Amino acid sequence: MEKKKLSLPVQIFIALVGGVVVGLICYFTGTADFTEKYLKPFGTIFVNLLKFIVVPVVLLSMIDGIISMGDMKKVGSVGWKTVAYFLVTTAIACVIGLVFANIFNGAGWFPQGMVLAEGETWGGASSANFMDTLVGIFPSNMWQAFSSANMLQVIVIALFLGGSILAAGEKAKLCKDIVSSFYAVIEKLMGFIISLSPIGVFTMMAWVVATKGAEILGSLALVLLCAYIGYIVHAVLVYSLSAKIFANINPITFFKKAAAAMIFAFTSTSSAATLPVSKECADELGCESDVSAFVLPLGSTINMDGTAIYQCVATVFLASLCGMNLTLGQMVTVVVTATLASIGTAGVSGAGMIMLAMVLEAMGIPVDMIMIIYGIDRLFDMGRTCLNVTGDISCACCVTKWEAKKNLVSK
Ligand code: ASP
Repeated sequence: MEKKKLSLPVQIFIALVGGVVVGLICYFTGTADFTEKYLKPFGTIFVNLLKFIVVPVVLLSMIDGIISMGDMKKVGSVGWKTVAYFLVTTAIACVIGLVFANIFNGAGWFPQGMVLAEGETWGGASSANFMDTLVGIFPSNMWQAFSSANMLQVIVIALFLGGSILAAGEKAKLCKDIVSSFYAVIEKLMGFIISLSPIGVFTMMAWVVATKGAEILGSLALVLLCAYIGYIVHAVLVYSLSAKIFANINPITFFKKAAAAMIFAFTSTSSAATLPVSKECADELGCESDVSAFVLPLGSTINMDGTAIYQCVATVFLASLCGMNLTLGQMVTVVVTATLASIGTAGVSGAGMIMLAMVLEAMGIPVDMIMIIYGIDRLFDMGRTCLNVTGDISCACCVTKWEAKKNLVSK
């Protein structure tokens, strides 16, 4: 009989527990050196693979996303209203994420400089003034932007190329096909790299716990709590209010009718896989079928409020571990990059964590830091996917109301 393979989340969980146990043993027996010399290098290989994939993923997913909005001209006002709703709610999500992360950080619940050696400091990206930053995001050399993984420049390149492909119309057909074909290849590669994550989780977790002790585990629980508070506040504030104000739906009714999709998203951690259930929920709520047929698939690719909150919270947490306190200017950069990173995040399990690498690169925080929270990413992912899907359904309700002036469910 064929042996049943453990699913990836189970493998990651086992790797996490195994890493913590090995780390604690090494910590208490004073053999942390072993993890540093022999385990951490495997984690580093995994992080290198993540870094290597992030530029093509960002570039191709953003161009692909822009091309998929090409039909927006056809759908006209529905398209613009949808994108406006997505952008505004995602920016609010970033602000909510940053506010809670700063409250937790200010209360001293995110350990400062924990990963630094004695006397070491980490400056992060030099905080240039606004004009320098503005000039700096426009690349003078495309290849240099790619080779130095300058994420803001990569985004600008993606926006320019995507926009130009749309502008070129029929003649750019080959380019469109090439982009979507390359993107399909890169997605496969990303899937392969993610499948190696148990190795990265085990080795890095063992190293972190062996060198930093059990204290790091408490901080992980706190950062998770912080993200979930952000998710809940965003759902209650933004989605309840927009359902009530714009679509005239009682918030309780909204959440009741969206519950099936929310639960499915929570367990599957994939907005794309939840699409059929979201469609049913939107129908139940009385959304116009053609509106939800446009809003929901687009939302499952570009509207990721939960991911944006997670990226902001994780960035502040990891910055704090490196002993950095983000300035107001740097937080504005976090809002912009996390909004864009969430747009570039594919609606599949774990994708938001890969895009977190982009935010960290932009902030000058070492990408290796991701490994500290990688082991519990699934727990973050469940909540963020649930929020992502709820945002899509709430958008479908609002746009239906704006377009058709139709009354949705009112009970
Ligand atoms: N899993 C999320 C989704 O499908 C994306 C993410 O990883 O943030 O919406």
